[in-house]
Amino acid sequence: MSVMLKRRQFMRTAFAALPVAALPLSKLFAATDTAALADVEAVTSAGKQIILTGADVKDFAARLRGELLLRNSAGYDGARRAWNGAFDRHPALIARCSGPADVMEAVKFAAANQLLLSVRGGGHSLSGQSVCEKGLMIDLAQMNGARVDPGKHIATVEGGALLGALDREALAHGLATTAGTVSHTGVGGLTLGGGFGRLSRRFGLACDNVRAIDVVTPDGKFVTASNQQNKELFWGLRGGGGNFGVATSFDFQLHPVDPIMLGGELVYSFADAPTVLKFFFDFAAEAPDELNLDVSIVRLPNDMRLLSIELTYSGDVAKGAAVIAPLRQIRKPISDSVMPAPYVRLQAAHDADTAHGRKFYIKNGFVRQTTPALLDAMLATIADAHLPVIQAVVLPQLGGAIARVKPGATAFAQRAATFNMFVISIWDDAAHSESVGNWTRSAWPKLQPHTHGIYVNEYNDDSARLRETYGPNFERLVALKTKLDPENLFRLNANVAPRKA
Ligand SMILES: Cc1cc2nc3c(=O)[nH]c(=O)nc-3n(C[C@H](O)[C@H](O)[C@H](O)COP(=O)(O)OP(=O)(O)OC[C@H]3O[C@@H](n4cnc5c(N)ncnc54)[C@H](O)[C@@H]3O)c2cc1C
Repeated sequence: MSVMLKRRQFMRTAFAALPVAALPLSKLFAATDTAALADVEAVTSAGKQIILTGADVKDFAARLRGELLLRNSAGYDGARRAWNGAFDRHPALIARCSGPADVMEAVKFAAANQLLLSVRGGGHSLSGQSVCEKGLMIDLAQMNGARVDPGKHIATVEGGALLGALDREALAHGLATTAGTVSHTGVGGLTLGGGFGRLSRRFGLACDNVRAIDVVTPDGKFVTASNQQNKELFWGLRGGGGNFGVATSFDFQLHPVDPIMLGGELVYSFADAPTVLKFFFDFAAEAPDELNLDVSIVRLPNDMRLLSIELTYSGDVAKGAAVIAPLRQIRKPISDSVMPAPYVRLQAAHDADTAHGRKFYIKNGFVRQTTPALLDAMLATIADAHLPVIQAVVLPQLGGAIARVKPGATAFAQRAATFNMFVISIWDDAAHSESVGNWTRSAWPKLQPHTHGIYVNEYNDDSARLRETYGPNFERLVALKTKLDPENLFRLNANVAPRKA
């Protein structure tokens, strides 16, 4: 028998031994296009149970270059896992898109079958909404490239890329733009909802730095949105979250930076927290744009309580040391890790403690004024925390360049905020899930009165606050949504519902 024949025979035997759905459909389709597929149970966006015929599913698979995964396909379980381990959802279908053409097919298939649809970029959704139950999940994980034009200072980043890819490619040219503070967060979700981090007080939000976005709109068409074309869509995409379609690519403005920045954490005892926090709020109000300050009051499962100030100074390192010196003198920190460090390393400092699969519950709002009453509420919240999990109140700083953009210039309206604030619990054992939920829901009402609107990227179950969040931009977003997505196909997000006809 020739080697070729032997190989063919081996391949036939190998494929025959595998159950039909154990292979990615598109691959399977290439190997044996006569294989029949079972019907697939799914739900519509209105929650109705439906059956997709095996023939329709197979036809859909054949239209994709990437894989279509069913519940028992190899790779399905890995693809459906949300970063937030508190959610365990099972999409009926996962379209692992390989490019915009696949995304167009997937959006058309969802619309034609009125399927419940979710879009997964980096998978960091705190509400777990990027993974749907029994619907179609558009998975952009394979569309994760980032490319820099060093001459034009522009980074072109695919819709499923992670922040680490953007930072790394840009820093190779001494350039950067605003990203979030954990490198395995997705560029897509972060940017569409706003996006702040170590550089946002200097360069504005991630969405303020976007120059163009390629989008597949709810009718399955591919368009580019920018200040030159599809301007209203471009406006809505910068802060309006995932309401208007699937962003397949972003062009970001980059800025020259020194790749070595002053960064790290100052940790103080809980006994010193009232003094440190009072000083901190006054200090932060006067901070230069190069300085970003995040403050957290944390209770650890061993009942230890701490106050931490995490800082990044993105200007001259020696000048930064002088600027932050007063923070080192308020009280003696119990630990001080602030030192010159590569920006990419600072950007990965929290990657391990925010690892995939842990459980997170969060409630948030924007703070405009840091008052003594807010300070008391923060301290009381953590003094009252007693669960065997991590519990924290965290305030990432805003202001600076973010505040210099007019509230109506993009959909992101919370330009007057000086801080975002969230109460967060982190745990691993599902036995604690109920008590964490109860604690968070009872703690938040003491903090919420000090906030205005929510950050849609930390959205959980706060849809009642969306009108306040978007303020004067809300009706304009509703009009755009009504025009582009009257059936609310893109609803698994901080949803701006279309007007009913
Ligand atoms: C550990 C951690 C750290 C964070 N740090 C920061 C921070 O420093 N700054 C900050 O601003 N935010 C931060 N966030 C919040 C973050 O911005 C949101 O969780 C954001 O939604 C993550 O985007 P993603 O693409 O990873 O999420 P996904 O779960 O993939 O998507 C979340 C939602 O975004 C939409 N979406 C995602 N990609 C696309 C796309 N390409 N096209 C259309 N819609 C899309 C969908 O509606 C989806 O439901 C953090 C979150 C986590 C979990």
